[in-house]
Amino acid sequence: MNYYDYIIVGGGASGLMMAYRMSNDSFFDDKSILILDKEKKNTNDRTWCYWETDNDEWNNIVSASWKSIIFKSELHSAEESIAPYKYKMIRSKDFYLKIWSHLESKTKITFEVSNVLSIHQLDNEASVITENKIFKTKTVLNSIIFTDAYKKQSKYPVLQQHFVGFFIKTKKDFFDINAATFMDFTVDQKDNTRFMYILPYAKNEALFEYTLFSEHLLPYNDYKVEIEKYLSKRNITDYEIVEKEQGSIPMTCYKFWNHNTENIINMGTAGGWSKASTGFTFKNTNRKTIKLIDYLKKNKPLPKFHKINKFWFYDLILLDILFKKNHIGAFIFGKMFQTTTPKQILKFLDEDTSLLEDFRIQLKLPIINFIKAAFARILRFI
Ligand SMILES: Cc1cc2nc3c(=O)[nH]c(=O)nc-3n(C[C@H](O)[C@H](O)[C@H](O)COP(=O)(O)OP(=O)(O)OC[C@H]3O[C@@H](n4cnc5c(N)ncnc54)[C@H](O)[C@@H]3O)c2cc1C
Repeated sequence: MNYYDYIIVGGGASGLMMAYRMSNDSFFDDKSILILDKEKKNTNDRTWCYWETDNDEWNNIVSASWKSIIFKSELHSAEESIAPYKYKMIRSKDFYLKIWSHLESKTKITFEVSNVLSIHQLDNEASVITENKIFKTKTVLNSIIFTDAYKKQSKYPVLQQHFVGFFIKTKKDFFDINAATFMDFTVDQKDNTRFMYILPYAKNEALFEYTLFSEHLLPYNDYKVEIEKYLSKRNITDYEIVEKEQGSIPMTCYKFWNHNTENIINMGTAGGWSKASTGFTFKNTNRKTIKLIDYLKKNKPLPKFHKINKFWFYDLILLDILFKKNHIGAFIFGKMFQTTTPKQILKFLDEDTSLLEDFRIQLKLPIINFIKAAFARILRFI
């Protein structure tokens, strides 16, 4: 059978979360759903962090959480509570296991290992081309970036949030498990926006992630050397690396959703669900998949799913600044954490703040840079 009511292209975070939500909603009980991915994921290929109040839907797979976060820079350093939020970590392996064990009993949901080559809008339906087959459907829910159009355009700058993380285990207890280091900008900036991100999930175990918000990736060894240097400065020398992770998330206000068509909707990073100014995607995916379920049930037009808001413009201005003056990130984030509580910053990053709250945060930033960038952008008609 090559026709399905829905085809989920890509069984990663957004594809599986969408399948999970569809399988929990009786509206989809009689609908055939196909999930395509080049592999059925079951390993810990990434860790997802997000902030939420105490009880959220994914609590039973949260492997560590922190009530406080640490921020460090030349300008300002502090450890502060983020109540009512907690900063939470999910290991992707636990997420894949939870979803796949739930989907196993659902007879209307099929999974096929396939290398997907392309997707196409046809008359009133869509096709999915894999190496061996052509599938047709009324609705493609796609999470694979098939186009490099976002890299080729120059209207919206494209930075990357790129990083290498080492999960280390020390012989002696070293870490305070009550606070996660959100950003430590005291590392050498080398004309970029560079910081260390630390998640201590046991007294002798922590993830150290050397992270940049910049245009170009580094050779692997550069990240490694910086992590080793950071550990050695803190007298952490007797340790083993138990796991590693590496990633690169596009940071751009490129309108990925313009690729949505009558029968194809893009999700996850491919749908522009990664927050442009931070790369955080998990929480957005959680929210957007709930919204998308409702949208599909009401049979609303897919090209209208995404709504641009004021936060898209704020992110754009920040990215314009960081693209031109990549060294200024430590100062901007330093100012932000110096003048605004982390709880309020997280609310702002969640896009839950009012216009008044936004101004209270923004007016304390290096305002001249932001005004200049905003005017330059307005002159380019956004
Ligand atoms: C190492 C790492 C750590 C991250 N940490 C965080 C974090 O802490 N917090 C946060 O909010 N975000 C984080 N992110 C960003 C984001 O949440 C993840 O990238 C998330 O997995 C994105 O979900 P997605 O569905 O868009 O893509 P994915 O989860 O990558 O899913 C895409 C799927 O498509 C499949 N696929 C790709 N090409 C093909 C093909 N041609 N044919 C068939 N299948 C294909 C892949 O196998 C994959 O399963 C992280 C990203 C990485 C890489």
